[in-house]
Amino acid sequence: MIRTAVTCDRDGCLAQLLERDDMPEGVEFEDVVEAAGWTSRPAALVLPGRPDAVDVVGHTCPACLIQRGPVLELGECPRCSGRTSDRADGALCHYCWAVTPHTPDEADEADEERCPAAHPEDPTPCDGPPVVTVLDSSNGGADGCEHHGARLLASLDGGRVYGLPEAPEGAAIRVFKAADQTRPFAWAPEGTPRTGPDQLSRAEVRRADEDAAVWDGRGIRNTGAGPVIDGDDWT
Ligand SMILES: [Zn+2]
Ligand SMILES: [Zn+2]
Ligand SMILES: [Zn+2]
Repeated sequence: MIRTAVTCDRDGCLAQLLERDDMPEGVEFEDVVEAAGWTSRPAALVLPGRPDAVDVVGHTCPACLIQRGPVLELGECPRCSGRTSDRADGALCHYCWAVTPHTPDEADEADEERCPAAHPEDPTPCDGPPVVTVLDSSNGGADGCEHHGARLLASLDGGRVYGLPEAPEGAAIRVFKAADQTRPFAWAPEGTPRTGPDQLSRAEVRRADEDAAVWDGRGIRNTGAGPVIDGDDWT
């Protein structure tokens, strides 16, 4: 596609606004320009001595409009393309003073680091500092908070958990017990089928095994839930 751009008519101002590739359907670039705080006027008003240029549109950037231009250093400002600096609430433009909120991605990165046991697809935050080490069957391990330690342990076949030296009393036991009740890959989206034994928590698998024992007659409990054999057909 042909990219359109507007530039500021003020002498020495580098401000520009480029048409984006991902503009939503039905949005005119001129609307974007206006929303960004630029003014558009017939160039005849802007360029003295060009009364013939009535069809040409002149633009003034938002920085020059608030007497903060001309934009001399280019940067990331989405309104005037001026230089910005990062602040807690977003990127502040040195020229037009617009604050652009950080994108969710950047905000995530700015978040406190999660423990190494947190799976990248698991959106949940830590419930505390790392207190346990979770090892898989080949002794690969990761330190984790209790919450992520339990989720990781539940997702491992033959995993083990150890308390870190500075861990509070009973952390490893709590993680072990929580993992027992936690389904593997607990962060899988809602609606993911949970049928096979490798997708259920160990506690659920045990219950399923007990039920099965009753069903095929090997159970030690008689719950009456077994298959009914009709005596008349049993000849
Ligand atoms: Zn300007
Ligand atoms: Zn700006
Ligand atoms: Zn964690």
